[in-house]
Amino acid sequence: PPPPPPPPPPPLFFFTPKTPYPILSGLVGSEMCIRDRNNSIVNVPIPINEPIKEYRNNSPEKESVLKEYKKLRNSKTDVKMWIGGKFIKSSKTASMSPPHDHKHILGKYYLAEKKHVELAIKSALDAKENWSNMRWEERASIFLKAAELVAGPYRDKINAATMLAQSKTIFQAEIDAACELIDFLKFNVYSMQHIYSQQPKSDPGVWNQLGYRPLEGFVYAVTPFNFTAISGNLPGSAAMMGNTVVWKPSDHQIYSAKVVIDVFKEAGLPDGVINAVYGDPEMITNTILKSKHFAGIHFTGSTSVFKGLWKKIGANIENYNSYPRIVGETGGKDFIIAHNSANVDEFVTAVIRGAFEFQGQKCSAASRIYVPKSISKVFYEKLKSEISKIKMGSPEDFKNFMTAVIHENSFDKLAGVIEKVKSDKDAEILIGGGYDKSKGYFIEPTVIKTSNAKYYSMETELFGPLVTIFEYDDKDWNKTLNLVDETSEYALTGAIFCDDRYILSEAVDKLKNCAGNFYINDKCTGAVVGQQPFGGARGSGTNDKAGSYLNLLRWVSPRLIKEVFVPPKDFKYPFMG
Ligand code: NAD
Repeated sequence: PPPPPPPPPPPLFFFTPKTPYPILSGLVGSEMCIRDRNNSIVNVPIPINEPIKEYRNNSPEKESVLKEYKKLRNSKTDVKMWIGGKFIKSSKTASMSPPHDHKHILGKYYLAEKKHVELAIKSALDAKENWSNMRWEERASIFLKAAELVAGPYRDKINAATMLAQSKTIFQAEIDAACELIDFLKFNVYSMQHIYSQQPKSDPGVWNQLGYRPLEGFVYAVTPFNFTAISGNLPGSAAMMGNTVVWKPSDHQIYSAKVVIDVFKEAGLPDGVINAVYGDPEMITNTILKSKHFAGIHFTGSTSVFKGLWKKIGANIENYNSYPRIVGETGGKDFIIAHNSANVDEFVTAVIRGAFEFQGQKCSAASRIYVPKSISKVFYEKLKSEISKIKMGSPEDFKNFMTAVIHENSFDKLAGVIEKVKSDKDAEILIGGGYDKSKGYFIEPTVIKTSNAKYYSMETELFGPLVTIFEYDDKDWNKTLNLVDETSEYALTGAIFCDDRYILSEAVDKLKNCAGNFYINDKCTGAVVGQQPFGGARGSGTNDKAGSYLNLLRWVSPRLIKEVFVPPKDFKYPFMG
């Protein structure tokens, strides 16, 4: 008979109940913390996603955020660099304006010179020892406090600043600047505890312990304009794991980045842990990448910029003390494909929300659509009628579903694409196509139809409210799946609408490499921290899944300590005798 199974492991003296947080459930190890605070093993609060406020008419939250919006709009803000805990000016400034009202000045920010970047590096290195030696529970407290500050006293301010700086409607500001930032902070703290609790097994007579050291040196965070939450998360997540950071926000988000800085400061983040410098990205980056203490980059932005950064890091590799961590979430050319079994109303809603919310300026925005001929007529009719209901203007007017694109360069590029489509033989403007920059950078929600599946606007990230449709023959379903897979260099998000389960499961498998976040019968935007960890592969990034333990693991360098309790006193092994 087979030997009896081994006895079950002894129960843990203290244990936390299994949490409902699904991302962690596949990991091994105890759910307890391994370090101690006042001779206790603590657990951080279990996070839940921040509830999204609705801002209905006559609601107190609507009144309150509009009051803050008006207050900010009618005052001038001076954004100084934040280095070593001090707010620092320089001799050069640039002004800040809302994209939907570009003649209005919101204030100015100070541009870094080389000496400011060097000071920021020095401040990060000086702060490193104390910060990395601080107990992790203290670091957790600081970021949990930051989350509560955003959820409470800073909520209106961070939302109103995002409406003004990046022209987001209140709903888009709320799901980004308030809810996603709060979720990033709370879920990251929870993942940090979980990472620290992952320990190897120990044979009898031995104790193995894994320590999760921060990286040696400092981390460089470079953030994009389009999400206030990302601006807080990229420097914040690396800092949470015990690193110190030099942070360069986008020129077009500095106004709301200032609120993030105020939150970190009020939460008690010690001086020099995060240092913010603004201005010339080339000069700032070149200065940083020259430092031998450069330990990693946490980047979100366009693919071409990230590739340039990777090359520069490669060219400097001999100079660094360690191999730098390179983490980048970059561009997308995100798709929605409908099968002829799809529900047309659901498909149309996904296209409109996916392509036009925040003016199509989400990395996950739907920008190429595949429609089967058999349902195309109803689809176009419904799409046209729904788009005609979209209102566009200032985010101050809550009836608007869309506002302006981020800056004049973006406006000019998008207007140029519209003109090109008008003159091209294999494409046409089906809906929209208007643009006007007299007051703000407004581009109408625009639908392009092409007969060429590889048309320029099917392949290139345009980052605006332009979506291109390719109509396929129903019998070419499999060929079209191949097209979806092969058409762009990106692999960020994608969605399928299909009510036939056999077809669906086959398609999900076929499309497995062309999106890091894949949606079934849903739009391809709107990932929620803790529920849909976000990131893509191919040209879309290193797929380290922002807001999850996978990302936090990039900011630690584990050290294994093995202790032997009774070491041998004779070098000879039994086999020798
Ligand atoms: P961007 O690439 O223009 O700028 C991103 C950051 O890089 C900014 O801080 C910018 O100042 C800096 N930068 C620009 N040129 C640089 C250079 N030569 N050297 C060093 N830094 C430089 O991107 P953006 O317009 O701010 O944001 C839009 C892009 O970001 C889109 O491509 C979008 O898909 C991508 N994005 C991706 C994700 C994701 O999770 N995959 C999320 C948000 C945005």
